[in-house]
Amino acid sequence: MNAMIKLVVNHTYAAEAANIIRLFYGKTQIDIVNLEALEYNQSLFQANEVLLYSLLDYEDEKIVGRAILNLHDEKKEYSEKYPIDTEKQRKEAVKLIMYKLLSLHLGKTYPWGILTGIRPIKIVHELMDKGFNDEYIESFMPENYLVSIEKAKLAVDIAQRERSFIYPLDTKTVSIYIGIPFCPTRCHYCSFTSNSLKTCGGLVEGYLDALIYEMEQTHVFMNKYNLKVQTMYIGGGTPTSLNEEQLERLLAKAYSLFGEDLVEFTCEAGRPDTITEGKLKVLKQGGVTRISINPQTMNDETLKAIGRAHSAEETVKSFELARKLGFDNINMDIILGLPGEGIEHLERTLHAIEKLQPESLTVHTMAIKRASIINENLDIVSNSGNTSEMMKLTVEFANKHDLHPYYLYRQKNMVENLENIGYSKAGYECIYNIQIIEEKQTNIAFGADAITKTVYTDENRIERQANIKDIKLYISRIDEQINKKLKLLEELYK
Ligand code: SF4
Repeated sequence: MNAMIKLVVNHTYAAEAANIIRLFYGKTQIDIVNLEALEYNQSLFQANEVLLYSLLDYEDEKIVGRAILNLHDEKKEYSEKYPIDTEKQRKEAVKLIMYKLLSLHLGKTYPWGILTGIRPIKIVHELMDKGFNDEYIESFMPENYLVSIEKAKLAVDIAQRERSFIYPLDTKTVSIYIGIPFCPTRCHYCSFTSNSLKTCGGLVEGYLDALIYEMEQTHVFMNKYNLKVQTMYIGGGTPTSLNEEQLERLLAKAYSLFGEDLVEFTCEAGRPDTITEGKLKVLKQGGVTRISINPQTMNDETLKAIGRAHSAEETVKSFELARKLGFDNINMDIILGLPGEGIEHLERTLHAIEKLQPESLTVHTMAIKRASIINENLDIVSNSGNTSEMMKLTVEFANKHDLHPYYLYRQKNMVENLENIGYSKAGYECIYNIQIIEEKQTNIAFGADAITKTVYTDENRIERQANIKDIKLYISRIDEQINKKLKLLEELYK
């Protein structure tokens, strides 16, 4: 890891500049200093022995970006003119000039270019909404954001597939999220809201009471405004950490409140060590149409190293059991870039998955999140550094098995700045995943740390309300959280 980098600016695009620095210099702390003594629109940063200076200027009513890099006696310069001068353009100009000069200096490029945000496909949708065709967008992305041609094509392909699920927009159709923040133990890479049952098992019943109360109160509001629920998703944590009775109680309530118009009902059964025949039967009887059983890897040594308390064999057995009980829409998640894993490990994982033939496969790239155990001990992150090669292998695998990419998102600090991609067979796309990533539909969320999002489609605006993360506080302050959520919804629907 690099030592702390100092970034001195006299403009309002420090966050954008910092994102580009992180892209090239990795996970590092950046100390941002605003200094008015600096020329307006200037920024300056020093990393290792490099001093990079960048400036936005005006020339013939055009905006000009300039960057100068000094390393000992060596000096490199880059400048470019931009025809439009909007706030967005200035932000992008700051990123572009820094990216281009650092790329030149360090000999590195990144597949998503200057796009450091979570949802690159949103840009494609915006362009499609304005009437631009696929060909135009496939060249617009590389020209304006330095995205590789391959990723630009992928983005267009995904956006086209998503559109039939997103449109026509209807404000009164929503999706529901229900969070179960418990897991048997905590995986080392986890950054989700997850509490180990070993220490927090005693809170489960109280949590379910509060959760169901929150759902009931919100349902009264939803009825009043005739809201329709398109999809429902129970995630976590691991929902199948609940015992059969608890799971049954939750599902019966969720389905009776929100099941009327449902077209898809997903429940994560992520950890194979939580899956039993009894629980799978409860899910089936409770109306669940799609489940997710997540191997992450099919290599036992890695599972042990990342703190997953199950074996690859248990994953296979759970999957086969689910099939036997009639589940015909099963997703599997895998993670590329896990500690110690190389191409041969991934080949083993894919080979095992090939035998199971899930309807969808979600390929995650390792992201080192602040809240994970791995982040606290970076030494255990030592993959073989060829995550891009692994990604290629998964693309080939998906092609071979008629699994099409249907949604994509990115996270901060992803290995090699890659992405997470959901693949599915035709007709098995998870509509919930598309809606949550593209943010064109209101999402009403229940449970600790769950975030309700209201979408104002006409104004391209999103408002959020998060529940409390701490389980005890979530339970004791449930009314306050319901009131805040209803106020947020009232604003949209009044
Ligand atoms: S199963 Fe998922 S939510 Fe639970 S600890 Fe592991 S990564 Fe976190």
